[in-house]
Amino acid sequence: MIRKLIQISFLLLSVLGLVTVNYTMFIIFLISSLLFGSFFCGWLCPFGFAQDLISKISKMLKIPQIVVPKKIERIIKFSRYILFIFVFFGFSFALLLDSPYMVFSGVLSWNYKFISIASWVVFAFILIMGLFIDRPFCRYLCTEGARYGALSILRIFTIKRNDSNCINCNKCDKNCPVSINISTIENVRDPQCINCLECIKNCPVDGCLSYSFVLKKKEIK
Ligand code: SF4
Ligand code: SF4
Ligand code: SF4
Repeated sequence: MIRKLIQISFLLLSVLGLVTVNYTMFIIFLISSLLFGSFFCGWLCPFGFAQDLISKISKMLKIPQIVVPKKIERIIKFSRYILFIFVFFGFSFALLLDSPYMVFSGVLSWNYKFISIASWVVFAFILIMGLFIDRPFCRYLCTEGARYGALSILRIFTIKRNDSNCINCNKCDKNCPVSINISTIENVRDPQCINCLECIKNCPVDGCLSYSFVLKKKEIK
């Protein structure tokens, strides 16, 4: 609930033009990702919130969801890092793939001037895909998220699983919007993690999952 309120507030402030992610904020988000993981993606980003809303509507309408097999997910999740490299070197097709974020920013700021038809098409496609899969843009295309995610591998505050009282119900895995297998690791340091804390919220065992200071690397059973 608190997360939703913060997401709505940030969206409204963005629409009203009272907040924009400027250079200083960007540096703050990068540093905080390094220490705490990407709270920007799970708590602030308006486009992430828009995808959450679409997913919520989809689940209310009981639209069947695409379950990406883990083996495929493990490979295609690298797409946003490859895209980031292309964007970094200025390849234009990569900019087109990255365009939904720009379209959304343009819509928020009522600035449609530089948005091409192709960008609108990609944007619409991403929104439609959001009906069938959680956060498709965040998981496979977002170069912003790739930056925050890459830094969050080193995070010292993260989600910790207490193996001794875990009942292996897998509710954490099922509720993770970016398909992380929390139930098989000790600490979450996956670059895909958006810090939404849905895993902790949905764990039925008190104290089994917590967000805390962790220096130890994750261990896979
Ligand atoms: S991955 Fe990109 S679109 Fe998704 S929440 Fe993060 S910055 Fe926003
Ligand atoms: S559910 Fe947990 S592991 Fe998955 S993205 Fe959210 S905080 Fe990260
Ligand atoms: S939801 Fe909690 S109890 Fe269930 S598998 Fe995940 S960590 Fe274990």
